Amino acid sequence: MTARIIDGKKISAAERDAVAAETAEFSRKSGVMPHLAAVLVGDDPASQVYVRNKERACEKCGLKSTLHRLPQETTQKELMELVAKLNGDPTVHGILVQLPLPKQLDETAILDAILPSKDVDGFHPENVGRMFQGRPRFLPCTPHGVMKMLEHESVRTAGAHAVVIGRSEIVGKPMGSLLIQRGADATVTTCHSRTTDIAAITKQADILVAAVGIPEFVKGGMIKPGAVVIDVGINRVNDRLVGDVEFESAAAVASAITPVPGGVGPMTIAMLLRNTLVAAQQQTG
Ligand code: NAP
Repeated sequence: MTARIIDGKKISAAERDAVAAETAEFSRKSGVMPHLAAVLVGDDPASQVYVRNKERACEKCGLKSTLHRLPQETTQKELMELVAKLNGDPTVHGILVQLPLPKQLDETAILDAILPSKDVDGFHPENVGRMFQGRPRFLPCTPHGVMKMLEHESVRTAGAHAVVIGRSEIVGKPMGSLLIQRGADATVTTCHSRTTDIAAITKQADILVAAVGIPEFVKGGMIKPGAVVIDVGINRVNDRLVGDVEFESAAAVASAITPVPGGVGPMTIAMLLRNTLVAAQQQTG
């Protein structure tokens, strides 16, 4: 079997076009331009690229974005003050603090300080709780992007066995939660670093989502023939971007697979734009 490639660039372009059209309509009626404030602390090269891509995507879709750059040695107090200022600024609808933060900063405390109504990453405990209860305000961008891809590709989740590798707060846990929500109706197994005989579990997956952070962790031999494989991983190996799935061997077994780059990554940005528009609509209504 040679897997169909799930083209994240194409699917995300359609989603971005939809956001652009809805933004134009919203701005015309309300006179308000949805505004994302991004905060970048330090000079991590990957973070700089991510933030630049997010800014460009905002501009292309008619959303305003402003970047707040802070030095590597920024203190907790200074960052908290900036978040408080952005929380109180009625012209800012969404706030994004690019992760990871330098070691001296308490990431959880910073994310908790963002107003839930402006938390367009969907990381605030209130928004996480709402998502788990199936009454979301904002869905976290990467797992939401994966769900959109599955929907776009007409992958049947109802009754499917979905296996998620990874239990991080930003990908693995919310991914499992979205897949078991009513409407998605998958049966979900979550694996992590303490899971024993992981291949025996992944081989049962109709839908396999890899969010491990280890280059090419999933090999073809770990995949059930005909499975749909979603590779969330972004790993830099010798200046090359590599996923958490060994693409060649996986594509020989799976029925459909996302590439890296050009798979889940672009979807994450599209969902961020969607959340920023929703935030502006909710704050303007
Ligand atoms: P993370 O916080 O490091 O979490 C990795 C997860 O993988 C953890 O739950 C860990 O288990 C598990 N794991 C580690 N080694 C394992 C092993 N040998 N066997 C089974 N499970 C193992 O990473 P993350 O933030 O979720 O990101 C995962 C990947 O997705 C990374 O490559 C990241 O760059 C990428 N990513 C991509 C996007 C995108 O837009 N495409 C967005 C976010 C992240 P424990 O919990 O037991 O430690």
